[in-house]
Amino acid sequence: MIQTKGYAAQDAQTDLAPWHFERRDVGPHDVLIDILFCGVCHTDLHQIRNDWYPGIFPMVPGHEIVGRVVQVGAHVKKFKAGDLTGVGVIVDSCRHCDNCKDGLEQFCLKTATNTYNAIGRDGLTTYGGYSNNIVVNEDYVLHVSEKLSPAAVAPLLCAGITTYSPLRYWKIGKGHKLAVLGLGGLGHMAVKFGVAFGAEVTVLSTSESKRKDAAALGAHHFVVTSDKEQVTAVTASFDFIIDTVSAKHDLALYLSLLKTNGTHICVGAPSEPYEVPAFSLLAGRKSVAGSGAGGLPETQEMLDFCAAHNIVSDIELIAIKDVQAAFDRMVKGDVRYRFVIDMSTL
Ligand SMILES: [Zn+2]
Ligand SMILES: [Zn+2]
Repeated sequence: MIQTKGYAAQDAQTDLAPWHFERRDVGPHDVLIDILFCGVCHTDLHQIRNDWYPGIFPMVPGHEIVGRVVQVGAHVKKFKAGDLTGVGVIVDSCRHCDNCKDGLEQFCLKTATNTYNAIGRDGLTTYGGYSNNIVVNEDYVLHVSEKLSPAAVAPLLCAGITTYSPLRYWKIGKGHKLAVLGLGGLGHMAVKFGVAFGAEVTVLSTSESKRKDAAALGAHHFVVTSDKEQVTAVTASFDFIIDTVSAKHDLALYLSLLKTNGTHICVGAPSEPYEVPAFSLLAGRKSVAGSGAGGLPETQEMLDFCAAHNIVSDIELIAIKDVQAAFDRMVKGDVRYRFVIDMSTL
């Protein structure tokens, strides 16, 4: 077994603290990655707090991982020692179901293996990227370009692909009016991709203070959702809304901002169910849809697109000892726009 150190929550009530654990030895199809950076995703906090379902403890969170390969198994073809790589929200899947065959491994019908807080197909608990190394089957590892800042690439592995994938699926781009609801880790990436794909992008935010930032990210318009006049001005105007909000919110208001046949796409994950009034859907034949992360081929496509178009996440680099303070600030929306842990501080 491989000795690993990381930060773990021992149960759903305690803060993250240093913890030593073991990972499986490098198998014939595995790569051992020395982790350089790991993004801090809202999901990490939800999971260590048991917000969605009872977790497996101790829990080492982290699924926005960038690191260098230090060892490869005898049959590994795609990677060699020294390669810069990424690992996102899953580390395995069944490989045989229709979704796996279609490159939608995140929707594996036999359940994909999450990067942490799961039991792997090897029978071992998975531990995430708040740690100094990880062993992953090469099929679930991505190539990362040396052209981009590896710290700023880390959030692309979750926040990036989570917003890229729905934009691609619904072919959102030139000629579309796209609204991005919430300007946080996911939202700022949705703006960057929406602009890169040629859509006319409006940021919908509760906070006037983000107007300047939205413009700096490339958004064409900004609407404060508590301002009646501003909201009325954009009624029935959007083709799509990407909803990144992870707290409880009322969809009726946002559905009224969609054009006829418009689609409201949920990518944030509130703990409580959405309430959707039927008449908000009937009037204008509107859809509420969802999208979660992305498969391996599309995640690689996204990373390559980012390298070609010089797109990364806007980040604040932190030492791992400050991760708890970062969680507190993340909940308040006090980060522009993603915390990334510098794993050399572990
Ligand atoms: Zn995430
Ligand atoms: Zn599958």
